[in-house]
Amino acid sequence: MKWNAAEASILKQITRFIRRTVFVPAVMIADTSTPQTVTQKQVLNATGPEEVLLDALFTGKIEYSDGVFTGSFSSKISSALRWVGAKFDKRRAAYVLNPADCPPFVFSASASFKMLSAQAHQKIKEHLDDLTTSLDALIAEDPIDVDSSIEWMTRDYRDVAEQLAIRNVLSHDSIEALKRDYADRLSPVVKKFTADSIRSLRVAVDKNATSGARFTTLIDSIQTRYGVTKSRAELIAQTETSTFMSVFREKAFGESGVKRYRWQTAGDGRVRDEHQNWDGKIFYYSDPPVIDQASGTRGNPGQFPRCRCIDRPILD
Ligand SMILES: [Zn+2]
Repeated sequence: MKWNAAEASILKQITRFIRRTVFVPAVMIADTSTPQTVTQKQVLNATGPEEVLLDALFTGKIEYSDGVFTGSFSSKISSALRWVGAKFDKRRAAYVLNPADCPPFVFSASASFKMLSAQAHQKIKEHLDDLTTSLDALIAEDPIDVDSSIEWMTRDYRDVAEQLAIRNVLSHDSIEALKRDYADRLSPVVKKFTADSIRSLRVAVDKNATSGARFTTLIDSIQTRYGVTKSRAELIAQTETSTFMSVFREKAFGESGVKRYRWQTAGDGRVRDEHQNWDGKIFYYSDPPVIDQASGTRGNPGQFPRCRCIDRPILD
């Protein structure tokens, strides 16, 4: 995917905002809560299989409750479990050890891991809930800066105006009005996107809490959510840019007296059938054709997610 400067600027800002407000704090909470320091202290005095078990319990690789060890058993962990007297139960695919025969260090390690882990999950959820309530203020504090996006659109428009030898009438006031319009359109989009990301991360953290609450899977699930969020941010940056670009062109050409355009697709195999039908046809900016059969939405080229069609202005 090749990004134009208008898309790149929006993408960078949306991603940075979500990273900074949602994901970095979540990872930091998980990271600082990981019982590394406790592990090291306890493990220092432990040796051999005891050390192996403590490490496995603290990192959440295995868990002990109601006489059963669950988790992932490497050969090292398995032999350490046999050393404390645990027996492998094929049916449960787990090691069992009667609590009466279980050494106290296993209980205490298991309990402190569970406590720290539950606290970390809880803290992340609290952070996400705080974010949800302060989202409006956070967005107002850190609005998307549309200047470089609008500058790019202005340059693009001036090039076309020059080619068509039409008067470039975009005044400073018009450009300022376009900037306000664009910022006003982006703000609710960023808000909804951030709120959605917070919600889905909270679901992931909750799910991890109920399925063993392991630190390793907690970090993994935050990472996975971040990946999904990043690719959604790309789609949003692209869609919002092309939608606004078409608003921009409609206004700019309108001011220059251009009312109609010829629809032009990207001309490759990825063009939507609906848009292929309009290729080469002439439309009024004020009366665009249907661009999405399913919803009946009308629009000028570019006003649809991932649409790469463009308008070729016509001089009357
Ligand atoms: Zn298209």
